[in-house]
Amino acid sequence: MEDKIVIGQEEWCGLEELGLPAIKARVDSGAKTSSLHAFNIHQFEEAGKRYVHFDIHPIQNDRKTIQSCRGLVVDKRNVKSSSGDKERRPVIKTPITLGGETWDIEVTLTNRDTMGYRMLIGREAMANRVLIDPDRSFCLGTVSTDELKQYYGTVRPKKDGLRIVVLASNPELYSNKRLIEAGEERGHEMRFVNISQCYMNISSNNPEVHYRGGQLLDDVDAIIPRIKPAMTFYGCSVARQFESTGAYCLNDSVSIARSRDKLRSLQMLSTKRVPMPTTGFANSPMDTTDIIKMVGGTPLVIKLLEGTQGKGVVLAETVKAAESVISAFKSLQANILVQEFIKEADGKDIRCLVIDGKVVGSIQREAAAGEFRANLHLGGSASPVKITSAERKIAVVAAKAVGLQVAGVDIIRSKSGPKVLEINSSPGLEGIESVTEKDIAGLMIECIERKLRERT
Ligand code: ADP
Repeated sequence: MEDKIVIGQEEWCGLEELGLPAIKARVDSGAKTSSLHAFNIHQFEEAGKRYVHFDIHPIQNDRKTIQSCRGLVVDKRNVKSSSGDKERRPVIKTPITLGGETWDIEVTLTNRDTMGYRMLIGREAMANRVLIDPDRSFCLGTVSTDELKQYYGTVRPKKDGLRIVVLASNPELYSNKRLIEAGEERGHEMRFVNISQCYMNISSNNPEVHYRGGQLLDDVDAIIPRIKPAMTFYGCSVARQFESTGAYCLNDSVSIARSRDKLRSLQMLSTKRVPMPTTGFANSPMDTTDIIKMVGGTPLVIKLLEGTQGKGVVLAETVKAAESVISAFKSLQANILVQEFIKEADGKDIRCLVIDGKVVGSIQREAAAGEFRANLHLGGSASPVKITSAERKIAVVAAKAVGLQVAGVDIIRSKSGPKVLEINSSPGLEGIESVTEKDIAGLMIECIERKLRERT
């Protein structure tokens, strides 16, 4: 017992073979295996052995400093993610140095950080070697910021990195933060630009976007528009202006505008034979009776044409209720869709995230008790789901029909097969990234890289 090293709940350790002389780790005897928060993970074979190449941010709260590492893969392990989903992750073997002693440990590579720590030391790595004093931290000493700088330097954006603008309204939103982070991780110069603070020179010989304070936003390689519904008109004009300056737009302004109009996008889906619930649209209340019949009678769903996040989606159980809701909406001059109610969906729908013609992630959303709308904002919950090839296909066709490179396609499972409910041009990343544990923001950045390569 005397020769065991005493450590606290957090310690600095070294993983020299990975090029990580100092990394702050959380000591977690509740976890069996140790883990490293890695990204850009790629496995390859060399001389009959399996290796993994990955990047890591070695310094806590610093996403600009990146260290590229390579390790020998000794195993693949099922790791339970926060969503309860099992995932196979590579395990590497590497020496750890702690308190002047060095020994081999196994480490899984994960793509989630644990409370900001880049490393977690689990039981296996500590067995017979250490004693934990949970009241203490850094029993083995600390590493200064200067030392860290010496070890890792400060990584500037890559010389051939792109200048990418996230065009949105709130820099604090999870999705916007993740896009900036994912771009920086890949060596690009990322900038958040607030839509409402842009103004434009629309003369034909000199299209320009200016930013509040007088700055000219030129030299932008690509933009990622994340336009909130209330900003659709102005946001699409700014995106269009960036397009005319030659910047690549991940979701062009025309497709975003189309997707914001439920009727227009459903009409586009229908021309591509994408299955959807029977849907009616009429101008005059005189046609209400026929419209109700057309969608198969009640119960039916009435939707405001410009509603989002489930607001303005109403379930009418009886003909009387349907007639009075339709007449109330009409008296407010609101445009509405009347739609067959898919009862057997049982308050569930599927969100498929499509990037560049591929479904890169999907989740099932389930409505809160007593609610038929599965929107997460209305208390719905999300869980992993395996989609069928038919669902995958209609999600891809739907995104293509509207012209979106990045789309959240909502699908409902009916007796007669999957049906598309709607298509979203700024799908939120939080639910899908946390449930699937996939780096969706990174895939969006990689899509831009690909498209710009294709252009040249
Ligand atoms: P929004 O764009 O406001 O989210 P949706 O058309 O996606 O509007 O509807 C919100 C939710 O209501 C869906 O996620 C789904 O759970 C439920 N829903 C919508 N249309 C139907 C329908 N025809 N049948 C059954 N449930 C529906």
